[in-house]
Amino acid sequence: MTNTRKLRAATQLVHGGINRSQFGETSEALFLTQGFVYDSSEAAEARFKGEEPGFIYSRYANPTTDMFEKRMCMLEGAEDARATASGMAAVTAALLCQLRAGDHVVSARALFGSCRWVVEQLMPKYGIETSFVDGRDLSAWEKAVRPNTKVFFLESPTNPTLEVVDIAAVARLADQAGAKLVVDNVFATPILQKPLELGAHVVAYSATKHIDGQGRCLGGVVLSDKDWIDEHLHDYFRHTGPGMSPFNAWVLMKGLETLPLRVGQQTASAGKIADFLADRQEVARVIYPGRDDHPQAEICKKQMAGGSTMVAFEFKGGKDAAFRFQNALEIIRISNNLGDAKSLITHPATTTHKNLTDEARAELSIGDGLVRMSLGIEDVQDLIEDIDNALSAI
Ligand SMILES: *Cc1c(COP(=O)(O)O)cnc(C)c1O
Repeated sequence: MTNTRKLRAATQLVHGGINRSQFGETSEALFLTQGFVYDSSEAAEARFKGEEPGFIYSRYANPTTDMFEKRMCMLEGAEDARATASGMAAVTAALLCQLRAGDHVVSARALFGSCRWVVEQLMPKYGIETSFVDGRDLSAWEKAVRPNTKVFFLESPTNPTLEVVDIAAVARLADQAGAKLVVDNVFATPILQKPLELGAHVVAYSATKHIDGQGRCLGGVVLSDKDWIDEHLHDYFRHTGPGMSPFNAWVLMKGLETLPLRVGQQTASAGKIADFLADRQEVARVIYPGRDDHPQAEICKKQMAGGSTMVAFEFKGGKDAAFRFQNALEIIRISNNLGDAKSLITHPATTTHKNLTDEARAELSIGDGLVRMSLGIEDVQDLIEDIDNALSAI
């Protein structure tokens, strides 16, 4: 496959980046090996000098992990990538590899819980300060810039309230400030949103979510241009060892083959369920970036190819109603995970966002009646019937 770049995503995700062995296997091989042997001392020397292509040690690179990285690069339109053991390893590497003591970061305040911990608790230990802003407010990004601002960081849509940040506009502000914009693109998926095309410099994923999509392996990936990876991530990655296991790379690569099918189905279901919920009197508000009543509907249309695989909604009856609803569901399971083939629901105020102060929760509009639903690939009619039944249990 030499011309995979010209092919469309669904084709690249099946054929792209294959390192086919001498056996000509159809399905990608799993190279479950730590090291590699060399034909001669001279060959080992040449490989270490970088004069000959080839693998050295699986903490650096591995043929199976390499296939996953190449396939992700094609999908994302990135020059280079490094696959990591988890999404948090990816986000942490993407930030720390390019920052040093005395640097300043501007970050959207609506972040995945562990991302917020890294920025708020870990980075200050290394002398890296962060200003948090409302990601939707462009003037807040601009005002927060300091002479030592090196990185802008955001996710969009956000967890759990599906706020949408104008990535192209924030990328322009980052450029003006001489900073790199890092986007955590997990909630959008690489099918629905391409941050690098919108002007972001670095994109990070938890591959645990939609990329696996079947609830098996943890993983992550950082993608950017070759210069940034060479300058910042290459050595950090080799020597701190956050790399993805070849086994997980194999599973996640097979996940990529079906990613467009699953995300397409999940997005279609999410849209139908958002519309169904919007008409129900038990529900105070439905948040779905693909609906015209979403506060950033226009930005969503501009930067996303679909309205998201997730729906958030708030019950008029608060926590009580949310709990009764969740407990009455029979197909949709209670779980803080997302992006799975199985539809999942969580109550953020008591699970994923319980560690925030009441004030921070209020700032992010995470009320006691809010639930976040990740749509799976079940028949949408069964999901609507499940939701309909559970609503009558409130
Ligand atoms: C899950 C998630 C992460 C962390 O990924 P892990 O694979 O669980 O480490 C980071 N950001 C977002 C938005 C996520 O949903």
